[in-house]
Amino acid sequence: MNTEDQLNNAKPFVIGTEKCPVCNSIATINIYTYETPPNEKIIIMTMKCENCGFKTSTIIPIATSFSNKCIAIEIATPQDLNTLIYVPEDSIIEISEINIKIEVSQLKFGNILTIDAILLYVLELLEQIASSENNMQNIKLLNEILNGNVNKKITIIIKSEYGVEVLKSHSNENYRVC
Ligand SMILES: [Zn+2]
Repeated sequence: MNTEDQLNNAKPFVIGTEKCPVCNSIATINIYTYETPPNEKIIIMTMKCENCGFKTSTIIPIATSFSNKCIAIEIATPQDLNTLIYVPEDSIIEISEINIKIEVSQLKFGNILTIDAILLYVLELLEQIASSENNMQNIKLLNEILNGNVNKKITIIIKSEYGVEVLKSHSNENYRVC
């Protein structure tokens, strides 16, 4: 089965946007999950620019279970926001720099996420909490990072008994098993 057939079989969802390397306008990043029997999955990540027609795709085969119980991803540059992670249900997301720990029992957005999707989720939660000086500062910090202004380095720690994995990253240096 070729890639085109797999794309037709799978249900895509948008996980974010990135600057088009050709024309610099905003390109959409989609992922498709394709299940291959018996117990494997293939993720196909595509980037598509509506402006100039640039298209690229990456195929990432993944096992359905991972052995890492804890992964720490450091966000020091805007590229780190595009790190793609497999987050199982029943995970704990911690960001010690803003003193937050969230237990995630059910992910409304699926199991394959970019860091900016996780930060956006945390930001939405913070915005629902009663406003305090501290909380306002954390909201401001996350907004800045999501806008690509990473002035302060933060580390996102994801823990789960079911296994966490970094599926794609621009560098091997920005995450570690903990
Ligand atoms: Zn383009």
